[in-house]
Amino acid sequence: MKLRADAVSKTYGSGSTARLAIEPTTVSIGEEEFVTIVGPSGCGKSTFLMMMAGLLEPSGGQVLLGDQPVDGPPFGLSVVFQDYSRSLFPWMNVRRNLSMAASAYRLPKVELAERVEHALESVGLAGQGDIYPWQMSGGMQQRVAIARALVVEPKVMLMDEPFAAVDAQTRADLEDLVLTVRNEYKVTVAFVTHDIDEAVYLGDRVLVLAAGPGRMIADIPVALGRPRHQVETKLDPRFAELRSQVYQLVMRPSSQRPTAEATQ
Ligand code: ADP
Repeated sequence: MKLRADAVSKTYGSGSTARLAIEPTTVSIGEEEFVTIVGPSGCGKSTFLMMMAGLLEPSGGQVLLGDQPVDGPPFGLSVVFQDYSRSLFPWMNVRRNLSMAASAYRLPKVELAERVEHALESVGLAGQGDIYPWQMSGGMQQRVAIARALVVEPKVMLMDEPFAAVDAQTRADLEDLVLTVRNEYKVTVAFVTHDIDEAVYLGDRVLVLAAGPGRMIADIPVALGRPRHQVETKLDPRFAELRSQVYQLVMRPSSQRPTAEATQ
C-alpha cells in the first residue's frame, strides 16, 4: 500500500521554546517500495517516521495510508523499534508476545495461531514460541520483534534504526532477513538508519535528511537490482558510487547542503 507524507512538519514545544524539528516535507512511498531514510543524529528521522506511523501528531500537513488520512496508528501498519528489549514483554513467551500484537485485529483463534507460527518461520524461529525473550540473544529478540510486526500481515512496515544495537554479523543477517520478509509479505517499507551502507544496501530509494532544522535534501534512486548480496552488491562499483554520494550529503556542513529540489 502507498504511504504519503504531504507537507508534514513538526514543531516541538510552543511559544518561546518552540523548535522546528521537521520542515514541511512531502514524500510518497509506492506500493511494495523499500525506502530508507538516512541522516545525522538529531535531524528528525524518528520524528518523521513516528508521524508516518500515526504515533506522533504532525504540526502541519497530513499523512495518507492509501487514500486514508492517518490520525492514529492505523490497521495494516506495523512499527519495529531499535530497542527490542523494551518493545517485547519479558513475562510473556514469544508466542504470546506475537499474539498480543494482533489483539486489536480480533482474528479467529486458529487463524491467529497459524499466523504466529508462520511469522516465526519467516524470521527463522520456527518452533521457538515457548521461549521467553530474555532467554534470547539481541539478534533473536529483534527477529521476534519483526515476527510480531508480521503477524498482522501489514501492508506497510516502518522500522526505526532496528539493527543499531546488534553486532555487525547479526546486523547483516537481519538486513537480509528484512529483504526476504519484504518479498514474502509484499510489504511497503520505510526504514530509518544512520548507517549509510545499510541505507544503500537495503533501499530502492534513499532519502537523505539534514539537521537544523530537519529537512529532506535528497531523494536518490538505488539502481542496484535485486536480490542484493552482502558481498557482491557491496563490491559493485555502483554501490561505492551511491555510498559516496550519500556520504557527502550527510557529512557536508549544513550551510553547503542543497535544497531537495536541487538534488531530485
Ligand atoms: P533522529 O531520529 O534523526 O536522531 P529525532 O527525530 O529523534 O532525530 O529528533 C529531531 C530533533 O527533535 C532533535 O533535535 C531532538 O532533540 C528533538 N526532539 C525529539 N523528540 C522531542 C520531544 N519529544 N520534545 C522536544 N524535542 C524533541
